[in-house]
Amino acid sequence: MAASRYGTPSADLLMQERDRVTAALTAMQDGNRVVTGPEDNRAILPGSVDDFAEVYAGMPDATIVAGATDVALWVTKFLKLIGPAIFIGHLDRLKGIEVLDADVRIGAGVSYSEFGPVVAEHFPHLAEYWNRIAGWQVRNMGTIGGNIANGSPIGDTPPVLIAMGAEVVLRRGGAQRVLPLADYFIDYGKQDRAPGEFVAEIRVPLPKPGDMYAAYKISKRRDEDISSVAAGFAVTVEGGVITAARLAFGGMAATPKRAARTEEALIGQPWCEATFDAAADHMAQDFTPLTDWRATSDYRATAAANLLRRFFHEHSGETPVRLAVA
Ligand SMILES: Cc1cc2nc3c(=O)[nH]c(=O)nc-3n(C[C@H](O)[C@H](O)[C@H](O)COP(=O)(O)OP(=O)(O)OC[C@H]3O[C@@H](n4cnc5c(N)ncnc54)[C@H](O)[C@@H]3O)c2cc1C
Repeated sequence: MAASRYGTPSADLLMQERDRVTAALTAMQDGNRVVTGPEDNRAILPGSVDDFAEVYAGMPDATIVAGATDVALWVTKFLKLIGPAIFIGHLDRLKGIEVLDADVRIGAGVSYSEFGPVVAEHFPHLAEYWNRIAGWQVRNMGTIGGNIANGSPIGDTPPVLIAMGAEVVLRRGGAQRVLPLADYFIDYGKQDRAPGEFVAEIRVPLPKPGDMYAAYKISKRRDEDISSVAAGFAVTVEGGVITAARLAFGGMAATPKRAARTEEALIGQPWCEATFDAAADHMAQDFTPLTDWRATSDYRATAAANLLRRFFHEHSGETPVRLAVA
């Protein structure tokens, strides 16, 4: 009550300024490229996705800035110069989401929050996991394309998308290619992305009825924390026998990676606890995780194996009863 005596929001100078600035910025959206700043430190705002493709093909050393939730930290924490920088957050055509019969096509510039409703409707097994990525503010800005492009071994989207058989669409100039997301990650800091090529789209197959899916994130805090271990699983069972399995992990290797040996140990086996116990023992052949400030190698190995057991118990309609301790 007392505060309201000092005026109304519409009389607030900052609110009035905001409307003026918003109008001025909107008027600038004429589809033309904007370039500002000195030569090495230029900020480039392409006029369209085609324009972005052209600029970046000609300036492959420029820094792409989407939501800036990673890039901004290079500046604020490491005082890194990121110029010339190509800003793409305003490009609406990178923000498209198309739900087709077989898959969902996600523009690289789609934020976690923008994708949230699609998760709820089409990928319900990801709903809880999705809300564990960063916090609200970062989910509003951070993009799925940025999470993939940065090639981090601890990014949260790659393991769950790889498990679902996602593909990434890369574009350089006018040329486009599609590759399985799993193949995009070659080694630590090395991705299958040519100079001047950018992430344009991610294609995620819709869940198949009857298949079983799960997404798990293990971190020290519930919110705003980087995963110690992240996992995405997709398993097909026909007539009581496991006929297909895709198990992908983050935080377990230099890249997000499928557990190939463990998958082999599941396929062709009956759906039962003994199968999962035996398969979990193969995980040591797939991964030799690192120890760092988030988790020890032993912790990661034990957690990953136990997530596989948890998957079995959850999908058997049981409460997990026994978890192995390293
Ligand atoms: C507080 C905080 C919490 C976080 N929590 C999590 C978390 O829980 N899980 C998680 O996985 N991450 C987390 N992150 C990291 C970050 O939010 C994500 O990686 C995010 O998805 C990055 O997207 P962005 O659009 O902000 O990328 P940017 O910062 O704009 O770019 C990231 C990198 O990708 C490149 N890039 C961006 N878009 C493209 C493109 N289309 N093509 C090619 N290259 C491109 C940039 O040049 C840069 O190298 C967190 C970050 C912060 C600050």
